[in-house]
This record gives sequence, structure tokens and C-alpha cells, in this order.
Amino acid sequence: MRGSTVVVVGHSECGGAAASLDAVQRKDFDLNGPVITIPSLPPTAALNRWLEPLTRLAGNLDIRATSRDKALPLVVSENVKMQINNLCQTQTIRDAWTVGTPKGQNVYLHGYVYNLATGRLQDLGITKGPKSIEVVELSSCKRHVKDVAL
Ligand SMILES: [Zn+2]
Repeated sequence: MRGSTVVVVGHSECGGAAASLDAVQRKDFDLNGPVITIPSLPPTAALNRWLEPLTRLAGNLDIRATSRDKALPLVVSENVKMQINNLCQTQTIRDAWTVGTPKGQNVYLHGYVYNLATGRLQDLGITKGPKSIEVVELSSCKRHVKDVAL
């Protein structure tokens, strides 16, 4: 059986994740207001727009008072999860899991974090795949795909 693998890899010591963490740990951070990750740049700066989803994600984690060495890996791994879930909701992936791909491939999504210090890839255990095949940790997006298929 043919397969196709999509891999989302985050990495430790990520500058983007660190900036988002810094933002949510500032005293004046407010998830209900405009989310500005880097205050020295205008809110409309490309970097601020690019980091906003990650900062919102970080803002929804309970890490405002968590030490950096614990909070940063969490932001990195949650970001990989968010990207996997975003991919699950794309038309391309939904089609692959419902009507199939033109080449008849089974498409799998995997989430990893690359640890720069050890050189190891950590499997986050959030693999998603076609509903006919058992995969670990069935996701809400997979249930969503099933709803679409019915
Ligand atoms: Zn990075």
C-alpha cells in the first residue's frame, strides 16, 4: 500500500516560541486586546502578524507564571500540535482522508520536536491518518473528517 508522510517539526530553543512566551509573561499582556508579540515593532509588522497565532496559543496555556525552561518546550510542542490540527482541516488533507489522493496514497501527519541539544527527534505521539487505519490518539480533527464523510 502506498503511503505519504507529512511531518511537522518544531525545535527546542525556538526564537519565535521564546518571543511569544515573553509576550504572554509580560504584566500587561491581554488576550482580549490586540496581541502584539514584539512591542518594539508596530502591530502590523510582518513579524508581529506572523507570531500572533503562536502568541495567542501561548496565551491560552497556563504558563504566565511558569519558569522559562518548563514553559518554552510546552509552547514549542503545542505549536506543532496546532499546526497538525490546522493541516487536518485543510481541503487537501480532508480530501486525502475521504475521497483519497489521485495516487491512492495513505496520508499520515506526524508531529515531532527536534532537540538541538541532543540532536534527537521527539515523537509527540499525535500521528493522524486515514480513518480506515488505526492510528494513535484519534484526534478531534479526525472525528471532524468522519463527519464530513458521512
Ligand atoms: Zn524556531
